[in-house]
Amino acid sequence: MTSNKRAIVTGGTRGIGRAIVKELAARSCCGVLFSDVAFIYNSCDECAEEIIQEISVSGTQIYAFKADVSNYEQTEDTVKAAIEKLGGVDILINNAGITRDNLLLRMSENDFDDVINANLKSVFNYTKAVIRPMIKQRYGRIINIASVVGLIGNAGQSNYVASKAGVIGFTKAMARELASRNITVNAVAPGFIQTDMTNKLTDEQKQAITQNIPMGRLGKPEDVAKVVGFLCSEEADYITGQIIVVDGGMTM
Ligand code: NAP
Repeated sequence: MTSNKRAIVTGGTRGIGRAIVKELAARSCCGVLFSDVAFIYNSCDECAEEIIQEISVSGTQIYAFKADVSNYEQTEDTVKAAIEKLGGVDILINNAGITRDNLLLRMSENDFDDVINANLKSVFNYTKAVIRPMIKQRYGRIINIASVVGLIGNAGQSNYVASKAGVIGFTKAMARELASRNITVNAVAPGFIQTDMTNKLTDEQKQAITQNIPMGRLGKPEDVAKVVGFLCSEEADYITGQIIVVDGGMTM
């Protein structure tokens, strides 16, 4: 049975977020879920325009909002505007994220703060902004994009790892707070996925990483987006507080 859902996706212009926007919009075809989507981006106006043009699934409305997800006041205004356009909100995907890698000895305070704010504070900002309407309607699906490094750690990424471990903890706390209101909160923890974020790696680094992935390849953004689509669907109605790893077997 088709149900009309409204989704907000942060970081929807590129990589995993872009694939999630497409996945949620495309689900209108298979009768499982029909999502109008508002996505947030930071800088790439052309990317935002491109994705709106690209996703021309009939009946699905796509809206783009330019805002810094780490800014609390901007978040309140952006979510309010998105809810006005969508007519409500059923799904929140906290996907936006950045890296500023360095060994701790060389890491600046700014690089630590920027990553924590973009990756973790943003999750607080957007979750806080959507839960009131979700509680009122007694329905909500919140999915946070974490990372396997938030579970196992990674040298040279103390800021990023701390932010993703924080997202995992936040996910579980919110799952407990909101379960009785029929709001599920889960995280997806990707391994290495081919996006602009990992394009910074050298071919040698990618080769070394691939050797540690039983499935023998880096992931595609769609590999993550499909799991997010499942967690938004009715099939996942009884799943909450879980961290679903999507890494080709790397951290099993
Ligand atoms: P990406 O290709 O670099 O895209 C990042 C997206 O986030 C862009 O749409 C960007 O918008 C947006 N964004 C970044 N900072 C923002 C801010 N302050 N305000 C608003 N939007 C902001 O990254 P990705 O690889 O798809 O990663 C997506 C998520 O998956 C991140 O949370 C990342 O940590 C996580 N992840 C990725 C991997 C991987 O291997 N790629 C692995 C594990 C987890 P603009 O286009 O406007 O800059």
